[in-house]
Amino acid sequence: MKAKIIDGVAIASKVRAEWKQRAAALSSQGCQPGLAVIIIGDDPASHVYVRNKAKACSDNGIRSTVHALPRTIPEAELLALIEALNRDRAVHGILVQLPLPAHIRSAAVLGAIAADKDVDGFHLYNVGALVTGNAIFSPCTPFGVMKLLECERIPVSGQHAVIIGASNIVGKPMAAMLLEAGATVTICHVKTRDLAFHPRLADILVVATGNPKLVTADMVKPGAVVVDVGINRLRDGRIVGDVDFAGLLATAGHITPVPGGVGPMTITMLLVNTIRAAAAAHAGPSSHFKDQHHDTARVHPDPFLP
Ligand code: NAD
Repeated sequence: MKAKIIDGVAIASKVRAEWKQRAAALSSQGCQPGLAVIIIGDDPASHVYVRNKAKACSDNGIRSTVHALPRTIPEAELLALIEALNRDRAVHGILVQLPLPAHIRSAAVLGAIAADKDVDGFHLYNVGALVTGNAIFSPCTPFGVMKLLECERIPVSGQHAVIIGASNIVGKPMAAMLLEAGATVTICHVKTRDLAFHPRLADILVVATGNPKLVTADMVKPGAVVVDVGINRLRDGRIVGDVDFAGLLATAGHITPVPGGVGPMTITMLLVNTIRAAAAAHAGPSSHFKDQHHDTARVHPDPFLP
């Protein structure tokens, strides 16, 4: 068997084209989707991510503003900026590039973003909505994985999905989304004993740990769908994922490459969430939700989802 390679670049491009049209339609009604990105400090990799996000926005009809702040900024000043962006009607999505410097409390910052502008899906309201099956904004990377599975017409309901990695931004929301889609879900992490045992049972295996070649062919059931979220830079400069891609080609049924698999989907789903946020704001406030922590926070029904 030769695995089908899932082309994340092609799928991302198709999804972006569809949502670019929606952004244009909103702009023509006087509501151009707007994303504010906050980046703190001068970590080169984070700045590359932010530049890529800004470019993807401008390529797809979204107005983006980047707020680059010094590493020493007091937390109170950052919170004041977020409050101002919460009130700014031209801003529909707010993203704070992680990680934050040690003197700033990530939870306080993520919780300060109005839930209806939380396009990264990290606000506790959105996390709670996700795990209770009422997702509003799902975190972009697992949302992108779900979109890849959907576009490849890979059935999820009733399948056994194994996730290696249990972070708040990938593994845990991935588990919630696969569970909601009807999968039986196993989550493995750094303390899992006999790690190799679990992926062998997987119909769908998602790996997000940051360890090159953590998953080898002997750990994968023949025909399984393998989604590699990991991004690792090797000493020779090559970027690889967490699975032994070449070794798995003869075993897996489907496999995502790194680069060119999940990566392009993450920014794509950020664009999607921002356009959805703009569409919801344009449709008007909903009375059924009022965020307890923010007078300005409202979560609207999504006109693009059933
Ligand atoms: P993280 O460090 O926050 O979490 C890593 C998780 O993997 C933890 O739950 C840990 O317990 C688990 N883990 C680590 N080593 C393990 C091992 N040897 N065996 C089993 N479990 C192990 O990382 P993260 O933010 O979730 O990111 C994970 C990887 O995904 C990284 O390579 C990151 O660069 C990549 N990533 C890619 C995208 C994308 O768009 N493609 C987005 C986010 C993260």
